[in-house]
Amino acid sequence: MRALNFNAGPSCIPLEVLEYAKNEFSDFNGCGSSIMELSHRSKTFEQVLDSAISNVKELYNISDDFAVLFLQGGGSLQFAQVPMNLYNGGVAQYVDTGTWTSKAIKEAQIQGINCEVVATSEDAKFNYIPKFSFSDNADYAYICSNNTIHGTQYQELPKTKCPLVVDSSSDLLSRDVDFSNIGLFFGGAQKNAGPSGVTLVIIRKDLADRVKSSVPTMLRYLTHIKNNSLYNTPNTFGIYMFDLVTKWIKKQGGLAKINEYNVKKASVLYEFIDANSDFYKPFARKNSRSLMNVTFNLKSEELEKRFVEMSQKENMIGLKGHRSLGGIRASIYNAVSLEDVKALVSFMDEFARKNG
Ligand SMILES: *Cc1c(COP(=O)(O)O)cnc(C)c1O
Repeated sequence: MRALNFNAGPSCIPLEVLEYAKNEFSDFNGCGSSIMELSHRSKTFEQVLDSAISNVKELYNISDDFAVLFLQGGGSLQFAQVPMNLYNGGVAQYVDTGTWTSKAIKEAQIQGINCEVVATSEDAKFNYIPKFSFSDNADYAYICSNNTIHGTQYQELPKTKCPLVVDSSSDLLSRDVDFSNIGLFFGGAQKNAGPSGVTLVIIRKDLADRVKSSVPTMLRYLTHIKNNSLYNTPNTFGIYMFDLVTKWIKKQGGLAKINEYNVKKASVLYEFIDANSDFYKPFARKNSRSLMNVTFNLKSEELEKRFVEMSQKENMIGLKGHRSLGGIRASIYNAVSLEDVKALVSFMDEFARKNG
């Protein structure tokens, strides 16, 4: 039996996608071998890659000014690769909203660039998205649109005059995005778009020209743009799965529909938590709440531990909060159904009655 999967990443993949991949696991599309056993330069694989790219372009409605890349090294390598390629001798500005932006800031500082933190929510343990403004002429402005660990999310992405860089690892392909001021947009696939090992990078092509000659070939976006992500061997199976997930999203009606469903799922859970806030204490402030990662605390660590144990007995996995924050986190990505969220709410209701 499939578990109700509330993992933060890697996380739930639509069952339909898994079954589809299973059916053609050893014989892809009648070609006599699995997709993993084919050259990344074969026509067959190139069709998969092109399909994944065009699905991303279609879903996000992005123009040919942008390149869609499938790289490796996770979001974590992007923390270093962004300043390495986009810093242009001026200033790079960051908003610090928790663990993932702190790591990105550290990678920029390692490179000795002029890097400015324009706002932080560290004063309240990162439970909100702070107010800020970016300079019009910064080399780039950097944010993390959804903070996986703390459960906060930008309700809207900021409008900037300078290129905006967005770490969208944990809300990738979950809602529409206006790309008009975006310079670079990235996310690992493992939260909302398939297995780990593939990083989607969408970059405004002209920005890739900034790169200095001291940057190693593999770390230049320009290399991957010129070679359509085939400079070296990419994660072919991961890209194949990514393609299947994007096809599934299209079948659901696209990002606006997926977002509508995500809003419904999150509302059911937050409304229950708010109605029972003497027992379940929401972590993130209301105006900063994430639709993807719902974080809350119980009265004691003891009780939280019991909550996790009991949930596992009900076939629910992944509810333990991140080790750096503690508490409980329910990740309700695209592939988690409304029924699963309702089942979680019933469990929480019963748990509160038995332990209140
Ligand atoms: C998971 C995550 C990362 C790191 O991803 P890796 O693929 O493990 O490097 C970065 N940013 C955010 C917002 C994340 O959720």
